[in-house]
Amino acid sequence: MPTWRRLAQTSGDAVIIALDGPAASGKGTLARRLAQRFGLPHLDTGLLYRATASALVEAGERPDDERRAVSAARGLGLTDFDEAKLRGRAMGEAASIVAAIPAVRAALLDMQRAFAARPGGAVLDGRDIGTVICPHADVKIFVTATPETRAHRRALELASRGEKVDYAAVLEDIRIRDRRDSGRASAPLMQAMDAVVLDTTQLDIEAAYAAAVAIVEARRGQLSL
Ligand code: C5P
Repeated sequence: MPTWRRLAQTSGDAVIIALDGPAASGKGTLARRLAQRFGLPHLDTGLLYRATASALVEAGERPDDERRAVSAARGLGLTDFDEAKLRGRAMGEAASIVAAIPAVRAALLDMQRAFAARPGGAVLDGRDIGTVICPHADVKIFVTATPETRAHRRALELASRGEKVDYAAVLEDIRIRDRRDSGRASAPLMQAMDAVVLDTTQLDIEAAYAAAVAIVEARRGQLSL
């Protein structure tokens, strides 16, 4: 396994890898695989927003109810996510509504930073990891793809989990979420100045993974200079 000792800038021997990008860009899969390869823990931060939204929806509350959303966010732990429930189409949409509330983002900030500060470091993926949560991450990758490609992937993923899907509706969801995530005032989705862009439109998962590993290795080379 590659070692990061001596190379990391963030906190002694720790290394932080930040992946950001729009919905269904492939960042989650890449983050998981990079974490495995480099022996680091992984946090999919989208699950925090999805779990917050889910708590509201289950209680019959509206996802834009700030007071209830903040209270749900504060009550979250980093474990016991019911991914089968959270990864559905409706929860992605509700998550992007709660995620636009600045007080919800503030409530989830320390938890994410604490995860990133684990001894040895961590891999985090989301929308604002390289810009807000870990602006000093050692490696930042901005993963993107065209909306059509992402909609196609998301439709396949939802269908594989037994959800009835209509490609046009999924594409429309993706466009709405892109607009909401990029247009919000608080921690909008954007590429960090020092992030490397990885456009996965023409890449299958193996090619995208190889490209992500190459980005990490190139950064290691820079850090060891
Ligand atoms: O990545 P995923 O699609 O699971 O995220 C669901 C929603 O959570 C996103 O559309 C976005 O609004 C929000 N999110 C966020 N910041 C993050 C991760 C997710 O605003 N770091």
